[in-house]
Amino acid sequence: MKTLPELSPASAASAVAADDAGTPVSVKIRERLRAARHRFNANDNIADFIEPGELEKLLDEVEHKMQGVLDSMVIDTESDHNTANTARRVAKMYINEVFRGRYVQGPPITEFPNAERLNELMIVGPITVRSACSHHFCPVVGKLWIGVMPNERTNVIGLSKYARLAEWIMGRPQIQEEAVVQLADLIQEKTKPDGLAIVMEATHYCMAWRGVKDMDSKMINSVMRGVFLKDVNLRREFLALIPRQG
Ligand SMILES: [Zn+2]
Repeated sequence: MKTLPELSPASAASAVAADDAGTPVSVKIRERLRAARHRFNANDNIADFIEPGELEKLLDEVEHKMQGVLDSMVIDTESDHNTANTARRVAKMYINEVFRGRYVQGPPITEFPNAERLNELMIVGPITVRSACSHHFCPVVGKLWIGVMPNERTNVIGLSKYARLAEWIMGRPQIQEEAVVQLADLIQEKTKPDGLAIVMEATHYCMAWRGVKDMDSKMINSVMRGVFLKDVNLRREFLALIPRQG
């Protein structure tokens, strides 16, 4: 029996590097998250823990695992040209499109001081919402309205920025109740208004495509903060002004 030669420090280092190269990128990212005690639920953003170039590797990893799912579903992706690139397409859709809000930094928002001293109720919406439920990864599609009650210290952001912030929050597997709270927290932090109200109305395709197969049911929920909580008339005014259908 041959004894193995002792590893020189250089080859030991390269052995470690080779080992590290074989570690799936998702494992590396998860280790960083755990070390920082940072939550990584489906609707958490983890962009701070992803190094440059790793998102492409993550996409390759998801594609590889997705291929395994197709194989386990006994779909002949070799002969069936319709599914030949499905694993790659689904991986791209998850990482770069529908769940992008998990993997990239938030949109840059320039805040301006409230020079006009706006102090009237402002309503933004309807903003189209596209998300997916964390339970089934089925689409959640709907609308939301944002009511802002500024004061002279409130930062003003451009109207289109509200849609950008919403897109970033909704671009994750979500639970509607948590999504509106996450969005309210973010707008609160960026603009510091006296009051903030959000109403979201959406169709959950996990109830339309599967489950009870009810095509018409919609879920509506709201968050009220600050003066919207205290002032019944203001709340009524906001709810009366948003033109919801059915
Ligand atoms: Zn669902």
